[in-house]
Amino acid sequence: MKQTDYLIIGAGIVGCTAAYFLTKEGKKVLVVDRSFPCNEASGVNAGGLELLQQPPKSLPLHKEAADLWDRLQNEDGIDVGYQRTGGIYAILREEDLHMLDEQEERFAKNGMECRRLTIDEIRSMIPWVSHDVIAANFSPKSGYSNPLKAGRNVLAAAKKLGAEFMAHQTIRKIEPAEAGGYNVYAEEEVFHADKVLVSCGIRSPKLLDPLGARIELQEQHNMITVTEKAPHFLDYTFTTPTLTMKQTAEGSILIGGGREGYGELEANTKDVSINNLCFNVREALEMVPSIKKLNILRSWSGFEGFTPERLPYIGEVEDYPGVYYAVTGFCGYAIGPAVGMHACRMMTGQGEPGGLRAERRI
Ligand SMILES: Cc1cc2nc3c(=O)[nH]c(=O)nc-3n(C[C@H](O)[C@H](O)[C@H](O)COP(=O)(O)OP(=O)(O)OC[C@H]3O[C@@H](n4cnc5c(N)ncnc54)[C@H](O)[C@@H]3O)c2cc1C
Repeated sequence: MKQTDYLIIGAGIVGCTAAYFLTKEGKKVLVVDRSFPCNEASGVNAGGLELLQQPPKSLPLHKEAADLWDRLQNEDGIDVGYQRTGGIYAILREEDLHMLDEQEERFAKNGMECRRLTIDEIRSMIPWVSHDVIAANFSPKSGYSNPLKAGRNVLAAAKKLGAEFMAHQTIRKIEPAEAGGYNVYAEEEVFHADKVLVSCGIRSPKLLDPLGARIELQEQHNMITVTEKAPHFLDYTFTTPTLTMKQTAEGSILIGGGREGYGELEANTKDVSINNLCFNVREALEMVPSIKKLNILRSWSGFEGFTPERLPYIGEVEDYPGVYYAVTGFCGYAIGPAVGMHACRMMTGQGEPGGLRAERRI
């Protein structure tokens, strides 16, 4: 039996950051994953850290996350590929103007900067942007980070501080141990820990349901397309109600969109939908026609779990004190470090008084 104080199940961005923050507090931490770190959503996403599109209730946590991304990169010296570029959220129809008004309102409520751009400003910030864009907001705190680096490098930093990681450990069951704490069962290994965090992304309900903690996750199959590298011309992240676009530090354009691919979580199969992919790419072409010259290198899809309110769930399982969950509900990569941080605070008894504990949603 492998013994630890804090066992983290799932090495996505949430599990890796929770492990890092716990280890920084001097805790004995073991992270396990059914595969390798960030093999699922946290390693295949578009890296977008966009604030303008977030629901009002999760905006404070997104604000915290934006500061944590900055801290990880610039204070803690971990290469997470973070760039605070600022983000533009543009609309194409008069009837969507209310979205920009609402963004301004909720940013103001949270003491965050959000600025309405004039059409001339939009055109100077994104050369050749489509004339269909009728208005846009700008958030200076938005940006992106590199999913190929972020979670893995954060976990590497946690390991340097003493955390352990074991790959290829699919956890099947969590059970109270007679002597206290929990026994956690993988196929060929049993772990014992005082405290256990379930951060298995869309697969979290498999472990939480038997403990009576129900989190409803709607299965999504997001798609991304990446182009060949080009000289830098897109300085900001660019979002519309049905499109996300950015140019990476290396020069590739990443296109994500409102239309999904295919997938079946139970069967662990996923694929792109050519029709929907064409829709997303056509939309990107219409918005920024200059990308037409670029060849597409690759498209892929991945699983993401949406909670009904698009908010993360962070809590302690009511009937199993010492077992915690940290599950993102929408834009889980952007908010991931804050979810990891709150999980760490909860597990170490530093949550706000009566705060984010037991079954409480933020
Ligand atoms: C194509 C795509 C594009 C996206 N773009 C963005 C974006 O631009 N911005 C944004 O904010 N969000 C984006 N997302 C969403 C975001 O990637 C996810 O919400 C986020 O990464 C979830 O992180 P996580 O740590 O909770 O879960 P995951 O990254 O899914 O990690 C969970 C980990 O748990 C492990 N695991 C699962 N079950 C078990 C088990 N039983 N035993 C052991 N280990 C287990 C898995 O192997 C996995 O490594 C995108 C998602 C996809 C798929």
